[in-house]
Amino acid sequence: MVIVMQEGASEPQIEAVIDRLNDNGFDVHRSSGDRHTVLGAIGVQPDFDIRHIQLLSGVSDVYRVTSPFKFASRTWKQDPTIVDLGGVRIGAEELVVMAGPCSVESEDQIMRSAECVAEAGGRVLRGGAFKPRSSPYSFQGLGEKGLVLMRKAADSFDLRVVTEVMDADQINLVSGYADLLQVGARNMQNYTLLKALGQSETPVLLKRGLMSTITEWLMSAEYILSEGNHNVVLCERGIRTFETSTRNTLDLSAVPVVRAQSHLPVIVDPSHGTGIRNNVMPMARAAVAAGADGLMVEIHPDPDAALSDGPQSLYFDQFVHMMNEIRLIAAAIGRSINEKPEGSAAGSAAGRA
Ligand code: PEP
Ligand code: MN
Repeated sequence: MVIVMQEGASEPQIEAVIDRLNDNGFDVHRSSGDRHTVLGAIGVQPDFDIRHIQLLSGVSDVYRVTSPFKFASRTWKQDPTIVDLGGVRIGAEELVVMAGPCSVESEDQIMRSAECVAEAGGRVLRGGAFKPRSSPYSFQGLGEKGLVLMRKAADSFDLRVVTEVMDADQINLVSGYADLLQVGARNMQNYTLLKALGQSETPVLLKRGLMSTITEWLMSAEYILSEGNHNVVLCERGIRTFETSTRNTLDLSAVPVVRAQSHLPVIVDPSHGTGIRNNVMPMARAAVAAGADGLMVEIHPDPDAALSDGPQSLYFDQFVHMMNEIRLIAAAIGRSINEKPEGSAAGSAAGRA
């Protein structure tokens, strides 16, 4: 931590700050110039509240130079974390594409979606069974029935399953069907849920909150990691800004920032990030170019009839097109898309047996 004293701060003020720092267990290095005194405080605890120093008289600025999170940081672990979903590895050189409808609506809808995802080269089927809707009058999801249908569809096409868990009480139930437990944007700071997920062994997909800074997002990841679950994937899905032309503002600069600060994989959801189908494909391309470890995209066999998020769901042919485009972009930056090897059972009768 670095403390810059105001110009002309008196000797008693400087000494009072040094005393307070020593009382809090810091070693202090003092450097006095002609106009300013700067104090370097070594040994800051991650939970130290810098406002205790900011409000002392004669203090101009206080800067924290160590990150407030530990297990999520690159300093603690330099090698990238790879989250393994039954052989589908997120965070490695190959990008993982997750796709599916916003909500599971029927067996036919989720089966057709799974077939499209597998045939186009995706590895993970997404779909909500428990939906965090902004209105209590909107479709809330099929609940456990949706989980059963999603697992069946995913197994038929050798896909993994990602789905949202909205409450700590649902973790056991949802873990019985899913390979990756999604924490939705609205729940990013539900610390009871995060702690409970930290005690689970199922990997977690942590979406960025609508109004959260990158540091707050990584602090939420820290809640899960510090409880013992180290399989966390981050997902940028857009934040709320003053802009109204898009549903959210997709903060793609979060991708390189997170990769520099953390070893955790980071993927991008351009569907909730933009809210309009035509904007999804360009932002999917941009996310790959920015270095994302994967994508999560909403698709639907009949978006106009979707029970949730139809306007941002891609038609199947658009998804196939997007996959073709991102293959080229991944190759241009020395990466590739994690796809089922040619001739494997995915989508074939054998795969469905
Ligand atoms: C979703 O993935 O369907 C969803 C509700 O996302 P978010 O939490 O990012 O709004
Ligand atoms: Mn949705």
